[in-house]
Amino acid sequence: MRKFDVVVVGAGPAGGQCARWLAKSGYQVLLVEQHETFEKNNFSSAATPLETLEKFDLPEDVVGSFWHNLVIVTTNLTRNWDAPQTLGAVLNFAKLKQFLADEVKSCGGEVWLGCRYVRYVQTDGETRVELKPRGREPITVKTQVLVDATGPARAVMYPKESEKPAFFKPSGIEYLIEVSDNDYDKYAHSLWFFLGHKWMPKGYSWIFPMEKPRLKVGAASYRLDHKIIKHTESIRYYIDLLIHEHIRAKDYRIIDTHGSTLHYSSGLRDIYYRDNIIAIGDAVSMVNLLGGEGIRHAMHCAEIAGKHIQQYLKGQSASFQEYQKELYQKFYRTWNLSEKICKQRYLIESDEKIDEGVSYLTPLDTQEMMDIVFYYKFNKLSKSLIVYLIRKIRSWWKAKYVMKYKS
Ligand SMILES: Cc1cc2nc3c(=O)[nH]c(=O)nc-3n(C[C@H](O)[C@H](O)[C@H](O)COP(=O)(O)OP(=O)(O)OC[C@H]3O[C@@H](n4cnc5c(N)ncnc54)[C@H](O)[C@@H]3O)c2cc1C
Repeated sequence: MRKFDVVVVGAGPAGGQCARWLAKSGYQVLLVEQHETFEKNNFSSAATPLETLEKFDLPEDVVGSFWHNLVIVTTNLTRNWDAPQTLGAVLNFAKLKQFLADEVKSCGGEVWLGCRYVRYVQTDGETRVELKPRGREPITVKTQVLVDATGPARAVMYPKESEKPAFFKPSGIEYLIEVSDNDYDKYAHSLWFFLGHKWMPKGYSWIFPMEKPRLKVGAASYRLDHKIIKHTESIRYYIDLLIHEHIRAKDYRIIDTHGSTLHYSSGLRDIYYRDNIIAIGDAVSMVNLLGGEGIRHAMHCAEIAGKHIQQYLKGQSASFQEYQKELYQKFYRTWNLSEKICKQRYLIESDEKIDEGVSYLTPLDTQEMMDIVFYYKFNKLSKSLIVYLIRKIRSWWKAKYVMKYKS
């Protein structure tokens, strides 16, 4: 029977990065993925700040396009924050996962694609993992540590669907479309987010650029009752709306349609570890609900896990309790606050409130907007709120007294 130091189940950004980190540190690693190619599960829009490329040493090959501009459109407003320098990238999700898997192999690890995790058994102090390669007999391997990086499936931590607790389940669908060069140029170098009841009630939609002349056009719905809105159309309806009413594309071709449903544990109540098993990435709700950004956080979490797995394998720690503590220290407050804001914005507010919220943001510079959208520094909002209120009071003063005096 083959024996590994670590078996990582799921070759998304979390599993790929964890396996890469451990293989680089000299451990015998096996990374298994149920899909036979990375093109098959290419669901993510994969917009990310530049930091992701630098922090995780990712090559330009995995980038679809770079952007330096943020645009927010509501039912009645459009606001734009531009920078002279590159702010981030839209990744090619399949290429990112392929790159991480290739790195695992080049560091001496093994990657088994088209191989589904079935179950684990603890016998005589050993962990045996049963895997099912497509079209072949099941294989069992031994491991010292087993990693659940199966994203929303949480296949290792929750073997039975019936045992899973209730999750918050926002769904997203995205089209990869090819448009004319003229249409593409309007959206090149920018991340466009659409809020408000016209564009995407109970959620948001987006247009992100990929390689010329391709655009990612998508929409996400939080799929819970809205305080005001009683009826919504299908997610695809809102994607079509963007294509026909915003891009106004006459000639376009749909290259690919993909999507997925996140399973987020409200209040971060996931199972983070059990004996020598540890969960990472979306399997422990590392995606931030506000804008659905999860790749950077999944990779960050994978490295934190990598460090704790190393300590465990060296006999320096007997459990993964400290891993959970470290994740809580880094994410707990911010993730809970993001969840609250997300529910307020997407499931309670009126269209006027959403317009007003985006108006508050107008006084902010581009860096401050990046701090809010990607770094969740919500304290920056107080500055914009103060400037907004001063402006409101000034215009009210002008209308009430100055105009009266003139007349
Ligand atoms: C529509 C949409 C758009 C998004 N856009 C962005 C974005 O713009 N920017 C961003 O940063 N994030 C975005 N995200 C979130 C981001 O994609 C996820 O947070 C991220 O992929 C999580 O990585 P992960 O490795 O934890 O999980 P996943 O990427 O879900 O990977 C889990 C892997 O485990 C495999 N697996 C599952 N069960 C088994 C099994 N039994 N055996 C073997 N393998 C198994 C799956 O096939 C999969 O490959 C988006 C998500 C969605 C749904």
